[in-house]
Amino acid sequence: MKKVLLIATGGTISASATESGLVPRLGTEQLLSYIPETRDFCEIDSMQPLSIDSTNIQPEDWCELAGLIKSRYEAYDGFVITHGTDTMAYAAAMLSYLIQKPGKPIVFTGSQKPINLDISDARMNLRDAFSYAAKGKPGVYIVFNGKVILGTRARKTKSKSYDAFESINFPLAAMIDGKRITQFYNPSPSLEPVKFYTEIFPHIFLLKLSPGMEPDVLDYISDKYEAIVIESYGTGGIPFADKRNFMRKLESATLNGKIIVVATQVMLEGSDLETYEVGSMALKYNVLQAFDMTIEAIICKLMWLMANTKDYDELRKLFYIPVLEDIMTDVS
Ligand code: ASP
Repeated sequence: MKKVLLIATGGTISASATESGLVPRLGTEQLLSYIPETRDFCEIDSMQPLSIDSTNIQPEDWCELAGLIKSRYEAYDGFVITHGTDTMAYAAAMLSYLIQKPGKPIVFTGSQKPINLDISDARMNLRDAFSYAAKGKPGVYIVFNGKVILGTRARKTKSKSYDAFESINFPLAAMIDGKRITQFYNPSPSLEPVKFYTEIFPHIFLLKLSPGMEPDVLDYISDKYEAIVIESYGTGGIPFADKRNFMRKLESATLNGKIIVVATQVMLEGSDLETYEVGSMALKYNVLQAFDMTIEAIICKLMWLMANTKDYDELRKLFYIPVLEDIMTDVS
């Protein structure tokens, strides 16, 4: 029998109703009591390092999760992490960078409705997560509503529906229908051993551009943060109109050693800054661009990389080296 470790962190899946709304309360034994059939195909141990709404998650918590898996890695064939859906895409992206080339599945799941409600999606998601942790391919994933999504490619796209997650700019890794797993992503087995990282650098700011924004916002942010991800428009561009010209601010921020990544607010297809003058102008100031990466992956990749280097050339090189299919654009 495969051995799977359940690591519970809270979220709706384990929540009960209180006067102030849903609060994560159920423990791992209660969660597991709803899916007794999983014991037919795996042995399960469990632990509960956190019991929080994932809105309260901190980057340091991601290091703790990676550390817990590191210290138990040899003892299990797979891992299931139950987690709130709101920041699950970030957690899955972060663990994709903190645990690279794992030889086993590490599977996040959660639900839109608490497991103790009859109409809940939690039982199916949890069962599917165990099934993928026991029988799926190595890697970090989100399993949700029958979809298996790579940890670097997930985005929560619906706030209420059961079909809450999409795979962005990359095909689904697999689909699960009851006992059947249909595998689309077939990674070749890694010849290198798993590599764990335990440090992250959390000072990354995400700035969403909107018309009328004053360019000196970059000065304020640069005071506090070492890297800024700018969610610009379309294929990517930064305003240079006389009234509010961002170019001088971009120049001073990058000259001061700040790392700036230009991404797009458009969910699908990614950036290509060379397409328009508004993009190519920004490229003159040593900014990086997102290409097909998700915002969640960009932020987590910077958190991982900047714990190790802040040197622009080094960082640029590493940023464009794919990790768990996070970037498909060839940037050589
Ligand atoms: N607010 C909840 C959380 O992220 C939502 C959920 O789990 O679905 O913890």
